[in-house]
Amino acid sequence: VNISKTVRQNITELLRLKPCTAKDISKDIRISEREVYGHLEHIRKSAEKDFVINPAECRKCGFTFDMKKHLKKPGKCPECRSTWIDEPDFFLKG
Ligand SMILES: [Zn+2]
Repeated sequence: VNISKTVRQNITELLRLKPCTAKDISKDIRISEREVYGHLEHIRKSAEKDFVINPAECRKCGFTFDMKKHLKKPGKCPECRSTWIDEPDFFLKG
């Protein structure tokens, strides 16, 4: 991580290298996951279709979450109420 770059530039570069969860980014850049999601919302807006979301999924019943409104990992599954949720990850094309 290059310190002279902005946090958002660093996140953008990470997302171009490989799909990352907010947790991965949080560890790499050393900011909170909450901050990561804030940056991701902005990156999604500017990157539009190049921003690829691998949505959160319930590990119990396989329910896939709609990430269009919120990128955050959901607390529990609306179908089976399980809290065993696979985190969403994010990627930038191009
Ligand atoms: Zn479920």
